[in-house]
Amino acid sequence: MANQRPDRPVSPAPDDGVDRATPAGPADGPALPAEQRADALDAVDDGHLDPVVLAARLIAIESVNPDLAQGGAGEAAIADWCAAWLAGRGFEVHRLEDRPGRPSIVGIKRGTGGGRSLMLNAHLDTVGVDGYECDPFAGQRHSGRLWGRGAFDTKGGLAAVLVAAQRATLTPLAGDLLVTLVADEEFGSLGTEEVLRRFSADAAIVVEPSELSLTVCHRGFAWFELTLHGLAAHGSMPALGVDAIRHAGLVLRALDDLQARLDRAPAHPLLGHGSVRVSQIAGGTDAATVAARCTLTIERRTLPGQTPDATEAELRHLLDGLARDTAGFSYELTRLVARGAFEADPTWPVVRLLAEQAERVLGRPIEPRGEPYWTDAGLVLEAGIPCLLFGVDGGGPHAPVEWATEESIRQVADALEGTIVAVCGAAPATPSRR
Ligand SMILES: [Zn+2]
Repeated sequence: MANQRPDRPVSPAPDDGVDRATPAGPADGPALPAEQRADALDAVDDGHLDPVVLAARLIAIESVNPDLAQGGAGEAAIADWCAAWLAGRGFEVHRLEDRPGRPSIVGIKRGTGGGRSLMLNAHLDTVGVDGYECDPFAGQRHSGRLWGRGAFDTKGGLAAVLVAAQRATLTPLAGDLLVTLVADEEFGSLGTEEVLRRFSADAAIVVEPSELSLTVCHRGFAWFELTLHGLAAHGSMPALGVDAIRHAGLVLRALDDLQARLDRAPAHPLLGHGSVRVSQIAGGTDAATVAARCTLTIERRTLPGQTPDATEAELRHLLDGLARDTAGFSYELTRLVARGAFEADPTWPVVRLLAEQAERVLGRPIEPRGEPYWTDAGLVLEAGIPCLLFGVDGGGPHAPVEWATEESIRQVADALEGTIVAVCGAAPATPSRR
């Protein structure tokens, strides 16, 4: 679940040396202190891989996003821990760290050839812990729940990914399995962008909490800064000026009309309607002066099919209309950030196969769902990789108390394990030539 973001468009993975088959060296990146490496190698290597035990261990490693919460530790420690865990289980490990202190880890189990490759994406970072009601890193377990910052979003899912990847590759697969543990999902998506610049796959599953439903779509969003330019004058003679605040009032009314049109438009079956609102406004210098300037921050939540460019054009059309009809109306519109909506095609094999496995594990039909917020799945799809989201049950994302049900963590691990084998295909008895 994402917060604030720099505007970095991602184009589909060009054929420029994206890693599909080149074996890399052993785990790169700084060695872990001995006790942590031992911990990473021993913590769960007790004959059976319990994702709940692993999730509690991951919660104990603080990885608060420092762009969101000042003083957050970032992803270095948890990335090192996961890298050691994967390396200790025979994964080829790549450490990506374009931004110092914000590493992402890619662990690969190479297939024997001739199979589809699958990418599992889960983020390493969490939101902050200010105001958290108890120890956010203790990873307590009671009442069938695992508690702590990230339990729900998304360390429960991250642990399920690791366990599923380990179990599913105990016997060789035909296709490659890429475990991508990314930095900075909660703020700028630097990690997923960095991974997609170097790696690709035939399909992907983004592991975010979904309460055991299949998240097959989510809205996009765009933030704009609108500056209205007026002309200052003494308040006693307003006609000599151009009142930027009065023009802001016209903009607010026009945006209300836009929202009414969005509400009248056909609703998306899972996402409902698009939305527009003003989240910040500032104008005027003092009580006695006509405001020469007023600034608004506009948020637009979009539906699949509406691109960031179309969203900007829609706003400019609205503002140009006001400029045409209003003397002295002058504006500047700046796009701050924009991410397209995401929608999976139900006929994609990865959607069908994950649904089958989830239904097998849960013993009931699985519901498709849509999310109002944006996730890294938007980037994965823009890179040309069919994908969807799936994750644990629980509550309290970004809240003072966060938890996940232990059962759902295990169910996600089981469903992912089955899906990995179904997508990548068990290796043929006599490996085919690659
Ligand atoms: Zn998340």
